[in-house]
Amino acid sequence: MGAGAAFGPGTEAELRRLAAAAYPSEGCGVLVGSASADGAMSVRSVSSARNLSERGRDRYELDPLAIVRAERSARESGLDVVGFWHSHPDHPAEPSRLDTERAWADYLYVIVSTTADGTGDVRGWRLGDGGFGEIELALGDAAGAEAGR
Ligand SMILES: [Zn+2]
Repeated sequence: MGAGAAFGPGTEAELRRLAAAAYPSEGCGVLVGSASADGAMSVRSVSSARNLSERGRDRYELDPLAIVRAERSARESGLDVVGFWHSHPDHPAEPSRLDTERAWADYLYVIVSTTADGTGDVRGWRLGDGGFGEIELALGDAAGAEAGR
């Protein structure tokens, strides 16, 4: 595991709300926050974007405009787009082969497992030389303390 990522107050709940709302389709969106020099990340806000894929049930394609917009508003508050999230309806929160092929280096990829009952596992991944490696997520109330602010 590489350096972890901490979710700020309310961001895990928002992520779960957006992922559950997209079910049974794949939801997707942008993670805004900051990254320190050692690669540790802090997520400050979570947004959802339109899934452009015609196969929205098992694919996602983030609206590029949503990324540009998120980047712009992040910069205004001194933050950055640090990664992306998407959901896996009725599948584990692990990257698919397609996820791996399309991923960009250095970004945090968060996958949320969803079912008709709501959300399950939330797991974080980052692309390395040998494909995706899992990175530790500090979720919920513990996030603030573990972020080492
Ligand atoms: Zn996926």
